[in-house]
Amino acid sequence: SSSQWSSPNVVKSIYPDEPLPPGSFTDYLWSRMDGWKDETALICGVSGRQMSYNEVRRQCRNFGASLRRELNLKTDDRLGVLLPNIMEYYPTAFGAMEAGIVPSPMNPIYKPDEVAHQLLDCEASAIVTLHQLLPTVQKAIEIAGLGKLKIIVVGNDTSTNGTISFKDLIGNGDTSQLEDVRRCHDDMAIIPYSSGTTGRPKGVVLTHGNLTANLFGLDRGKDHIVRTEILATSKEVIPLILPLFHIYGLAIASLTILTGGEAVLLPKFEEETFVNSLKNATVLYVAPPLVIYLGNSPKVTEETLKSVRTVVSGAAPVGQADIDKVLKKMPGALYKQGYGLTETSPLVCTTPITVYNPTSIGPPAVNTKVKVVDVETGQAAGPEESGEIVVKGPQVMKGYWKNQKATDEVLKDGWFYTGDIGHYDSKGYFYITDRVKELIKVKGFQVAPAELEAVLRGHPDVADAGVVGAPDPLKGEKPVAFIVLKANVQPNPETLKAYVVEKLAKYKRIEDFIFVESVPKSAAGKILRKELRLMVKERFPKA
Ligand code: AMP
Repeated sequence: SSSQWSSPNVVKSIYPDEPLPPGSFTDYLWSRMDGWKDETALICGVSGRQMSYNEVRRQCRNFGASLRRELNLKTDDRLGVLLPNIMEYYPTAFGAMEAGIVPSPMNPIYKPDEVAHQLLDCEASAIVTLHQLLPTVQKAIEIAGLGKLKIIVVGNDTSTNGTISFKDLIGNGDTSQLEDVRRCHDDMAIIPYSSGTTGRPKGVVLTHGNLTANLFGLDRGKDHIVRTEILATSKEVIPLILPLFHIYGLAIASLTILTGGEAVLLPKFEEETFVNSLKNATVLYVAPPLVIYLGNSPKVTEETLKSVRTVVSGAAPVGQADIDKVLKKMPGALYKQGYGLTETSPLVCTTPITVYNPTSIGPPAVNTKVKVVDVETGQAAGPEESGEIVVKGPQVMKGYWKNQKATDEVLKDGWFYTGDIGHYDSKGYFYITDRVKELIKVKGFQVAPAELEAVLRGHPDVADAGVVGAPDPLKGEKPVAFIVLKANVQPNPETLKAYVVEKLAKYKRIEDFIFVESVPKSAAGKILRKELRLMVKERFPKA
């Protein structure tokens, strides 16, 4: 056909293009709620406490209105979020969005330096955190010189010491402040952080339209979610171990609300609690380390997993042998993959119910086009040819926060360059095989070499540093550091290790240091990571 001539080698979705629901993301999120408003929406996996759809919705509106009334936050103001997976996350994130405020989520295990960087970069006006994390926030404020930042605390019943009680904000039922808030597809909804293809973590501006497009795509691709099609009693029970601060976790939380499921919130991986949460689970959304855990742990048996119909893995690659081990414990269950990035809200591809190859990420989601671009020539490649995965669709971010240069490097003519290497087969199913970008993924979490290098260069013994990834059987990848020491300094990996742990979250720690005379660089001073990777390959052959 003529359209094929005008766009050769572009793979379209298996679903026909469809217009998105208009209005705000939160309008769409709650649009089906009347069907199950008195039923349970959230269960705390630790305490067993439950909350109905009506109650979550009420708290979202109260919290959002209070941000405007009590904290005087205005449309498009940023709100830092430093919380684990707890019920209060929902009013914080979805309530803020409904009120036109833009949450910027952070990993609750972040160290003060990391929190300070993000608060400063996104120019937050306020932050929501847990009572136990207050010292981290206070230290971050000191580092960043953000004396005026307003702090909302969960777990403190009264507003003290200049902090504001979360409970007070959700307790106020005056929602008149929301009446004039109108959010459209093009308005900012959330700013999570990602390093993208290069450099330090950057704010990813996702709009209400982006989040709507993603949720719409998940809903279209959800052939395993039976709620709306079959009995009103067949409620999905979905353990939420994926962190809500990551866009994958937030997306699954959103899908669970849209489709009337029950989310079991797990604030951290604790074996007994996790295994308990599996007993009634119907769908498991996980990252690769949990696929490996489910397959290997003797605590997880066929009996434990008897209600699970589908396992969905995303965020990093999983090997066929690890998938087989899980499926052996779940005869008849379905294994699916999702592929995406923070910059794509995140869904790009997902396997439909007719999985014929579990190592595939499937065809493009609804309204999405994907092509594979030859890294050398820039030409769109045909089936079975390898190249960079490039995406077009309504879920692609608006751009990096206040960073036009970084935005222009990845967004060209509306096509988003993912930095991932892969190919598609004759059925239009995609496979991810490698990465051109410098990003390292440890247990599915982003580790930016540039961030580690900046920290290492801050150590008094270090003249220069270069970081790349190496394969690791449990974590997927691990960072390896090449260090050039200052003159007359003796190599001491232990002090460097401790220094990194003090500055950055635990999963970014470095176990392997290689001391070198110099870090290989281009004439322009860019680290030649290809050369570092070759040096790593010699020392760490594939696990
Ligand atoms: P993030 O922004 O943290 O979601 O990281 C996005 C990156 O994770 C992608 O660019 C890929 O490198 C990787 N990734 C996500 N999903 C998959 C998958 N299913 N298989 C392989 N890699 C993945």
